[in-house]
Parts: sequence; C-alpha cells; structure tokens
Amino acid sequence: MANYLFMATIPSIGKLISSSRRTEDIWAGSMLVSYLIKSALKEIKDKYNTKLELIFPSKIESIDSDFADISNKILLILNDRNQDDVKNLAEHIKKTVAEHMKKITDFALSECKISDTEYKELACYQIENTIELFWAATEISDEYKKSRQELEDYIGYLKDSHLRKDRMYQGYVLINSDLEIQKESFDEFQKKDNYESYCRGAYTCTICGDNTIIGATKEEYKGNVLWNKMWESNKFKRGERLCGFCMVKRFLSNYLNKQPFPSTSEIASTYFKKQLIEKQDILKKLFDIFKRVIKTLPEGNPVSALRDDLSKITNHEIKSFLKLDGEWFMVDTWKNSNNYANYGISNEMASSITNELEKIYREHKLFPSEMYAILKLDGDNMGAKISELNKEGHKKLSSLQMAFTQKVKEIIKVHYGEPVYIGGDDILGLFPVEGVIECAKKIRDTIPEKMKEIRDLLPKGKIYDFTLTGSLLIVHHLLPLRFVLDELYELEKEAKNVNSKDSLGIKLIKHSMSSEKIILKWNKIDMFKKTMEIPKSFIYQLSNISHILQNENFRIREAIIRGLLKGKIEKAQIDNLVDILLKIDEDLVLSKICSFLRLTHTIYRKVP
Ligand SMILES: [Zn+2]
Repeated sequence: MANYLFMATIPSIGKLISSSRRTEDIWAGSMLVSYLIKSALKEIKDKYNTKLELIFPSKIESIDSDFADISNKILLILNDRNQDDVKNLAEHIKKTVAEHMKKITDFALSECKISDTEYKELACYQIENTIELFWAATEISDEYKKSRQELEDYIGYLKDSHLRKDRMYQGYVLINSDLEIQKESFDEFQKKDNYESYCRGAYTCTICGDNTIIGATKEEYKGNVLWNKMWESNKFKRGERLCGFCMVKRFLSNYLNKQPFPSTSEIASTYFKKQLIEKQDILKKLFDIFKRVIKTLPEGNPVSALRDDLSKITNHEIKSFLKLDGEWFMVDTWKNSNNYANYGISNEMASSITNELEKIYREHKLFPSEMYAILKLDGDNMGAKISELNKEGHKKLSSLQMAFTQKVKEIIKVHYGEPVYIGGDDILGLFPVEGVIECAKKIRDTIPEKMKEIRDLLPKGKIYDFTLTGSLLIVHHLLPLRFVLDELYELEKEAKNVNSKDSLGIKLIKHSMSSEKIILKWNKIDMFKKTMEIPKSFIYQLSNISHILQNENFRIREAIIRGLLKGKIEKAQIDNLVDILLKIDEDLVLSKICSFLRLTHTIYRKVP
C-alpha cells in the first residue's frame, strides 16, 4: 500500500473554443469540459470518499453552474492504495466521462431527429476523438513538489506524443480500415475502385474544419436532405453543415437546461436596453414602432444582469419587446433584407422602421452600440508559484482560486458581462463596451487581495506576486468570431511579452477592419477616463500631422500638442492633460497617442 499522486486532464480547450461561429459555441466548448470533469470528480469522490484527497480543485460542491467554473485538470491523492486501485480510479473517471458524453450525444441526435445508425457511429467517433482524457499517477516521494512536477511533465509528454492507434477514417460514414482495407495502407486503399464509394467528397464541418459532416450520403455528399431541414431550426444558420462534435455543442445549453449564451449583437446593445428601462418616454416611442413586428421576430438571450432588470418589469409586452435580440435595435439590421425577409417583413415595412428609428435616436441622442468587448485574462507566472508550494500550500492555492472565481463572477455580472469560463486565474468573458475597462481593472486589483494568504507563503520577488496579463478586444458585432478569437489570442501573446508582464493589450477593430492597438501596464488603464474630454477634432488634427512631426524633437511635439489643445480645452486643464499624455507614452510618440485617444472615444463614446 502507498499514497499516489494522480492527475487527469481533458486538453485542447483552446481548440474547442476557437472552433466557434456563435458565442454559444465558445461557451459550450469550455462548459462541456468543465461539466465532464465535475461529473467525474463527483462520482469518484462519493466512491472513494476518505481515501481520496482533492488538491485541484480543492472541493466539488455542485455540478450546476452557468459557465465553466473549474479548469480542465484534476489533481488528487489516493491514500493507502495499490497500483490496481489507481488504474481502477482512472478507468472509473474515463467511464464516467464517456457515459455523460454518450447521454449528451443521444440527446443532440434525437433533437435533430437523426436515427440513422451510420451517422451515429460517425458522430460518436468524432466526439471521442475530440474529448480525450489523459491521466498519470506516481507514488508520492518525500517531496510533493518533485512528484507533482514529474507528473506534470509526464502528462505533457503523453499529450504531445499522442497518436490515435485505431485505423478509422472519416468518409460520409466511418470506415474501419481493418475491415475495409484489410491491412493495406490507406494510400493503396485510395487507389481501389470502391474507395470512391466510401469517401467521395463528403463535406467537412463548417465550424471546426477537421471532421466530415453528419448527413452526407453516397449519392449526396453535401448532406442537403438533412441540412435543409436543420436550417429551419434556430440552432443552425443557413449554410452551416456540422460534424458530430460541433452539432452536440449546439445542444449543450438545452441538455443542461441553461439559457443559451447571448449573441454578440445582444451583448453590444445591453447598455442601450438598460438605458431604455430608465427612459420610459423613449422606450414607449420605440415600442410603438416595433408593435407591428414584435410577434414575428425571435427573442434574444439577454445577459444575466439585464435578465434580472427585465424580471422587474410588470408590463409583459414591454418585457418581450426588450427581450428581442439587440440586433433589431440597430438601424443597419433593417437595411439588409437578408436579416428580416425570413420573418415575413416587407422591404417597405423595414424602410419605414429604419427611418423612424433613426429619427428617434437622433432626437434623443441615444443609440445602441454596434461594438462589443471580449476580455481574456490569465495569471502571470503561475507555474513558478505552484512549483514553490508543498501539498498544503497547493491545496490552499486551489481553495483561494475557487473563492476568486466566485468574486470574478460577481464583478462581471455587476458590469453586465457574461463569463465564458473562470477557472481560477484563467478568465474569458464578453461585455458591453461600456464599463469593460473598469471591470477588467477591478478583476486585476482583486487578485492580489484574494491571494494574499498564499503570497505570504511564497519567496520574495516580483515573479511571485499575483498579477494578470491579457487582451481586450473591442470589435464590431458582425465580425466572424473565429477571426476575433485568433486576434484575441495573438494580442494576449504580445501582452505576455511585455517586461514583467502585468499588462493588458487593447485593440479596437471596426467593421471596416481598420484597427487601433495599444499595450498598457494596468496602472495606466484609468487614463482612458481621464482623456475623455479631449475632442475628436484634436485627434483628427494630430493624426494628420503626426507623420511629419514625429521626427521633430520632443519639445516641439509637446508645444504642438499644447497649441492644438488650446481653444478646445479649458486653459487650466491643459497642463494636466499634457501630463496624462506623457504618462501614456513618455516619449510622446504621436501615433501611439492618437491610437490611445481613438480607443478612449470608442470606450466612452459620445453621440456624434
Ligand atoms: Zn466540427
């Protein structure tokens, strides 16, 4: 009998998330893994009880959550057991994960009314191939730190060197090469006559691009019969053809009985809706415009804070009006018949709505934002911190991380955001642009406070301070999500390269794809608010001359800035503002200053 340290993980979360066309796909990718890990933990916790000591996560309270609230890893100790017990534990976890996946798959396929066993086999294979569990265990030596590091390295090796050993190929059905090819190589198989009949051109999934689609047949490799039917449901957009795994993700919110994740347009217009609740006169006018079409348009999924606000409204008609997806409040939506024709709305009606909306928005200087924000934050140097901790220290860290997760959840809700995942120090969420800067700063300021107890256990040195680095994109709601996520990851990498990290990359990408980017240390983030008063005309003038002026010496550049501010800003304010611009960039690089101020204007937008 011995004590074993045991680690299990379902990797490739990044891939699961970046394979997304809708916000719901992002949410479902991480939610699925979190749900499977929690279900497995709960199962083994009940079974092994006192012999099992959880380290990461520190405990498992409830499986139910609206977002992924634990990471994709389990670390625990199995006390006083032998090697067979460890293997049984691993098998038990694998079995639990597989059983839950099967239930979710059955649910999704039955929702799609797919009973064809051939598709089912293909779908299950694609799912198994994506959700793979890796595990390893080691007898604990005297030193916990050493055993933990060994295990971490070994799991890394397993993931990197993993190759599927089966001989299955995806065509319009699953091909078992052992049966079909009879020991030939796939290359030889391809030359055979019957190859075509198995593999001919089945389309690949429009989301992940890795798997073939469900629904293709020998005669009809686009799967039109199935997909034409599916496009009638609001789960799929016309043109989408998905593989088994991406299809299952679309039904996860139904399976778990959760409200689907808000769309990008809904998130963008959240603050506008919030303002409408407070401005009854405008709300009434808009309601009158929409009265004709409310019943025909689909309801959206408001963020949870707005849902709370809406639940207080007693007038049911107004309530369902405010539940319409944010896109319907945007004037541009009514200018493209692809958006409304499906709902039986005529061009005349749409153009009359366009005119009336524009009039009211202009009159009241209030209109919905077409931009939303996506924020990703990650703890700095977490590996270095964990490698300094003994078992008790690591357990303490895990329990503080769980408390931090709850705190971050509250902060996000207060700012009308919606979390995708909060796994300790790893955070992803979507937000209305209004308030996202304050929210990000608040989260950054909370981490040292929440981790103080563990910081006291760690050596001196900045690397052991609890800080966050990440990226914030402010983007047009119609930009493809996949592109947005790639940009988000890219910007995070840049921010992580900043000396001693602790920074936030901020990028604005407009519908026209023009962009502004800046990477700042957190102590400079509140400069956005402080530069709100600088008018757009200043930015315009400065950017027009910036390329000529950039080679002039510092004093001349400063004098020009002062000159341009004169007449636009109160005299007493100018010194203060120049100081702030110097804090943003001490060398007064004009292009950088212009980028910063353009970002300010988007974040604290004013009616033009
Ligand atoms: Zn797919």
